[in-house]
Amino acid sequence: MAGEPQADCLFCKIVAGDVPATVVRETATTVAFRDIHPQAPTHVLVIPRVHYPDAASLAAAEPQVAADVLAEAGAVAAAEKADATGYRIVFNTGSGAGQTVFHAHAHLLGGRGLNWPPG
Ligand code: 5GP
Repeated sequence: MAGEPQADCLFCKIVAGDVPATVVRETATTVAFRDIHPQAPTHVLVIPRVHYPDAASLAAAEPQVAADVLAEAGAVAAAEKADATGYRIVFNTGSGAGQTVFHAHAHLLGGRGLNWPPG
């Protein structure tokens, strides 16, 4: 069923506590944890507890949870003081755009200058 945990999903395992992660914030609907291969001084992934393969499918099915993910990304940025210099929220969508984990997630990147356009 849509939104249900998937046995082969890494991020569902992190939500369940079956795979360890450095969690920085949790809410009833989201978990935020540090990326294992950080690309900036602040690199935190914000994920919904429910499983959808990408951000757009999450937003279509459960718009309030998608909004929660965005709000949490902002809260992490403030907690990490990344909002002082600017930060980026990225939703890679599809393998051609660099998505490697097919459980919706926001990358919160900050703490350094960020070029535009991204590579
Ligand atoms: P994507 O490439 O799908 O947009 O982002 C997936 C992110 O998950 C990558 O930045 C990658 O470094 C991160 N990642 C992959 N495996 C793990 C893991 O086991 N733990 C954590 N904390 N991050 C992971």
